[in-house]
Amino acid sequence: MQDLQKVSGFMGDLTPSATLAIAAMAKSLKQQGMDVVSLSAGEPDFDTPEVIKRACIDALNQGKVYYTPASGLMELKQAIVEKFAADNNIKTSVNQVVIAPGAKFSVFSAIAALCGPGDEVIIPAPYWLSYPEMVKATGAKVVAVETKAENNYELTAEQLEAAITPNTKLLILTTPSNPTGAVYRKETLEAIARVAVVRNIMVLADEIYEKLVYDANAPHISIASLNPEIADLTITCNGFSKTYSMTGWRLGYLTAPLWLAKRIIAFQSHSTSNPTTFVQWAGITALKEASADVERMRKAFAERRDLIYNLISEIDGVKCIRPQGAFYLFCDISSFGLKSDEFCERLLAEEMLAVIPGKGFGADGCIRLSYACSESMIREAARRLAKFCAALRK
Ligand code: PMP
Ligand code: GLU
Repeated sequence: MQDLQKVSGFMGDLTPSATLAIAAMAKSLKQQGMDVVSLSAGEPDFDTPEVIKRACIDALNQGKVYYTPASGLMELKQAIVEKFAADNNIKTSVNQVVIAPGAKFSVFSAIAALCGPGDEVIIPAPYWLSYPEMVKATGAKVVAVETKAENNYELTAEQLEAAITPNTKLLILTTPSNPTGAVYRKETLEAIARVAVVRNIMVLADEIYEKLVYDANAPHISIASLNPEIADLTITCNGFSKTYSMTGWRLGYLTAPLWLAKRIIAFQSHSTSNPTTFVQWAGITALKEASADVERMRKAFAERRDLIYNLISEIDGVKCIRPQGAFYLFCDISSFGLKSDEFCERLLAEEMLAVIPGKGFGADGCIRLSYACSESMIREAARRLAKFCAALRK
């Protein structure tokens, strides 16, 4: 008899997302009455802005409850084209824009439509832990390239050049970065773009944290905006989860060269069809009418960034870079001599503090703290982490 549980193909052999698993575990411990502090999920604690919720309710009341094209609602695509032009200096068209149920699916469908067995995908580490699994799901090979805290965790053009082989199809670039909070500098992006153009590889720019930047000297720059040659090789992904505090709504999008957009649409047409119709209508309102809300939340994150960085960098044995974007603090805990999994398991068991081990991000000597939570939670988390580290040092 055949073994029905034997994995065939690539999709059946993936590691579950540790970010989602640890966040869910922390929530469940809390529901059981435990005094857990969770700095685990990258999920803003703000409610979705009122104007967006109202637009969704209006859309429902107006009967916007039917399928849209698999690639998304034309009116939202138009708004996204305008957004790319205004915010990112990216020239695109409605035929190149594909809307999906979450940026996670946008990233996945781009990789799936582009890559397969025999291809190599370069991923600068530390990376968001879903990328390698997505690449593995297509049968392509992950080529992780370690970046350094001393270099703002940026991939250098020299590192990229050295990692490229005749099989390299794609580079994944995340700025601002999850998990490090680093924002790529313009000169680094320009150098990377030069290599990508000369060596003819595609770039997937994940810009979901673009609005969450905190330093005037570290603005967000889209690699596709640098010149037409790199624009022709770039897929730019974005979404509503982080900017508008809409994680549960599931809405993301991308723009890709036309030839690839067509393939992505074909894939989506057989896998998800369109993202929820009334959510797409609310997305138009988010893009057009929520900028004051975005700025309010960004300012709050900026204050939290300062608070968490100041508190955690005071802890003996913990090293971190000052994040310039997103809402994560990435800390080097290698001085304690524990693997990140063990560090996090003990931290949860002994101090009831949930954070994410760096292992899944390709950095086993590190942990990730999300500061998408209240200032009082940040203070309490810092107190617990300091106590835990002090005990480890004894
Ligand atoms: N990209 C990055 C870098 C992320 O951290 C996330 C996490 N949510 C996503 C994409 C996906 O976001 P969503 O699916 O909620 O739009
Ligand atoms: N991206 C967020 C994080 O890294 C949410 C969880 C997930 O989708 O992985 O925590």
